[in-house]
Amino acid sequence: MKKAVILGERKAAIVDVPDPQPKEDWVVVKVHAAPMCTEYKAFVAGHKGEFLGHEAAGEVVAVAQPCRVKVGDRVVVMPLYPCGKCSFCVSGEYIHCERSIDPAKFTGSPEGRATMAQYLVKPSWLLPAIPEGVSYERGSLACCALGPSFGAFQAMRLSAFDTVLIAGLGPVGLGALVNARFRGARAIIVESVPWRVERAKQMGAAAVVDPRESNALKQIMGLTDGRGVDCALDCSGTVQAERLCIDAARRKGKVAFVGECTDPLPIRVSPDLIRKGLTIIGSWHYNLSDFPALMKVIRESPLIDLLISHVMPMSRIQDAFELCASHQTAKVVLRPWE
Ligand SMILES: [Zn+2]
Ligand SMILES: [Zn+2]
Repeated sequence: MKKAVILGERKAAIVDVPDPQPKEDWVVVKVHAAPMCTEYKAFVAGHKGEFLGHEAAGEVVAVAQPCRVKVGDRVVVMPLYPCGKCSFCVSGEYIHCERSIDPAKFTGSPEGRATMAQYLVKPSWLLPAIPEGVSYERGSLACCALGPSFGAFQAMRLSAFDTVLIAGLGPVGLGALVNARFRGARAIIVESVPWRVERAKQMGAAAVVDPRESNALKQIMGLTDGRGVDCALDCSGTVQAERLCIDAARRKGKVAFVGECTDPLPIRVSPDLIRKGLTIIGSWHYNLSDFPALMKVIRESPLIDLLISHVMPMSRIQDAFELCASHQTAKVVLRPWE
């Protein structure tokens, strides 16, 4: 099969590798849609990568034994290789699995764990069905495009009564906007890249705040009668935006972080938490039991097609990475067979 690799700084290529094989209840999926995520950061930094991607939708093409899926099923491919047995896995919180499996060890081959490839292997319980009439591209939005913010909004119980602040309108932030609008919430966005601001406006953002302006917080307060937002979601992974989310949230408000960040964030326990009564959470993904609800967003949201800006043949991987690095995109979806 063919798969995409990063060879060095701003250098990607397609290589030929052996096809993965099914084993026990791990099945082979022919990948039809592979959304691109944060891999472009390695492309820009020059970190070599042989196993790219963690988002996919495709068709089951080989099984080793009877299991939850059969050949021909159209499925979304959930991320990682969780054990399926620990308390987190059985409660649908498999993303936090304590005993994840090394796929190379289990299958005896290093191939099959990348999604920017023509085939992959996955335990059958991590392959929920794509409903009839939903394309592979749209189905693949049930990974990182809509997933992290869906999980955060479920936890925050975001509703039509709320104003939500969304910081960072890359593909994950734009997905958050789709989720917020589906729930009827009023959305204020924090973003400075013109392409993203324009796309967010098309998706119905109620107001735009430029984080480079020194009075950004004051602007948000002015948009909320001086109270602050009910919920705030950071998708940028920057300390400045994380802090803005905390400061812009109202008393007893809720803040969720989905943007990955390893820098320290200063939080003052008394003013931020005790006196203000804030709830602050991290959200990586959504509970597997929420898959049908998320699929409802994909089927019914009038904004869903705005969440995919580019569908590209995987053979153009170099161009696709350059495009992602430009920050002028919503989700970029690769077609591995073209
Ligand atoms: Zn587990
Ligand atoms: Zn992702």
